[in-house]
Amino acid sequence: MRTVAVVGASLAGLSAVRSLRKQGYDGRLVVIGDELHRPYDRPPLSKEFLAGTIGEADLALETDDEDLRAEWLLGTRATGLDRTDRAVRLADGSEVRADGVVIATGAAARTLPGSEGLAGVHVVRTLDDARTLRDELARGGRLVVIGGGFIGAEVASTAYALGLDVTVVEAAPTPLAGPLGETMGAIVTALHTDHGVRLLCGVGVKGLSGEHQVDAVLLQDGRSIPADIVVVGVGARPCVEWLEGSGVELDNGVKCGSDGRTSLAGVVAVGDCANWYDPRTGAHRRVEHWTGALERPAAAVATLLAGGAVEPGLPRPPYFWSDQYGVKIQFVGHAAGADSVTIEEGSAEDRNVLAVYRRAGEPVAVLGMNQPRLFTRWRKQLARPAS
Ligand SMILES: Cc1cc2nc3c(=O)[nH]c(=O)nc-3n(C[C@H](O)[C@H](O)[C@H](O)COP(=O)(O)OP(=O)(O)OC[C@H]3O[C@@H](n4cnc5c(N)ncnc54)[C@H](O)[C@@H]3O)c2cc1C
Repeated sequence: MRTVAVVGASLAGLSAVRSLRKQGYDGRLVVIGDELHRPYDRPPLSKEFLAGTIGEADLALETDDEDLRAEWLLGTRATGLDRTDRAVRLADGSEVRADGVVIATGAAARTLPGSEGLAGVHVVRTLDDARTLRDELARGGRLVVIGGGFIGAEVASTAYALGLDVTVVEAAPTPLAGPLGETMGAIVTALHTDHGVRLLCGVGVKGLSGEHQVDAVLLQDGRSIPADIVVVGVGARPCVEWLEGSGVELDNGVKCGSDGRTSLAGVVAVGDCANWYDPRTGAHRRVEHWTGALERPAAAVATLLAGGAVEPGLPRPPYFWSDQYGVKIQFVGHAAGADSVTIEEGSAEDRNVLAVYRRAGEPVAVLGMNQPRLFTRWRKQLARPAS
């Protein structure tokens, strides 16, 4: 293999580049990224960076002494992939011909239709998004967060600590019920109300009001919630439109095997854009978690370099964390399909909990709230193959 193109210059792309070099690939390596920045860390964008306690330099994912011998084409969008010669077409009309392609184009924040161009309305996905929001939060005022998922909850928590008046609006009856289940979703979500943040659940958003600057969020039930700043945290969509017509099978992202192998030979997918087959559950799933974007490219790169001739090991169960109101939330495994949840340590009232989800008596997922040591033990146990 003489040239490998990595499309997407963020965590999964960088991790693929590192794995390629570590696994002995010595050829040309071209990294294509549509943002102007070198790879940076996204989790702090809704936490420490938004709070102003760390700066941009602290977000860098590369180390100073790292020499990956890659060509970085930054500020360059990939617009297509030619299946015949694996040429990645670029927005400026040029192309990069490659023997191997790593798709690592991640996900983009969903927006609220009709909110385009209205000042004071934000999403949080990129460094540029977070910079703008941070400057606005510093001026104070009333913040309404649309969406009670993890990113929305973290923004609410950060803004609360900065002294803003915060309201969270969530369409579902229980925020986080999807990833955590109803019981634990309700316990984690109670962190908002513990701190005096208003939480409005089970009500959709009809639209926003304001001529040039947003002044309120209009709810489906007729209420109008005054707002100086609105953050839309309604999830993310995989960035795969550039692959339409390429022959790479798309289905909620890039459909691929547990080793990242796609429907096109010599093309693998990693990170938030990959909808990979999980042999632990027997289904495909697209996971938007930092640890998966960091760890899973190693197997994909091994597959690419071996021309598909390696058997991937059993993947570790998906893991993520979230920091809200001073509480470290950690989760590993699959909550869907669990038939019981028990609190094994701590108490829900103290927001200090180790909860185990089981199916037919077997642990399938674990949630920790400020229980890092015990959680780590359970996480290791869950990663062991079933005997
Ligand atoms: C605010 C925030 C907080 C988070 N907090 C946590 C957390 O606490 N815990 C956790 O586990 N996870 C967290 N995550 C998720 C984690 O950051 C992601 O899982 C991780 O960034 C995924 O990495 P990725 O490289 O797959 O995708 P991304 O980081 O999305 O990177 C993809 C890159 O590809 C670029 N791109 C897209 N299309 C093209 C194209 N056509 N051509 C060229 N480039 C393109 C994008 O602009 C982007 O730079 C958070 C995410 C955000 C946004």
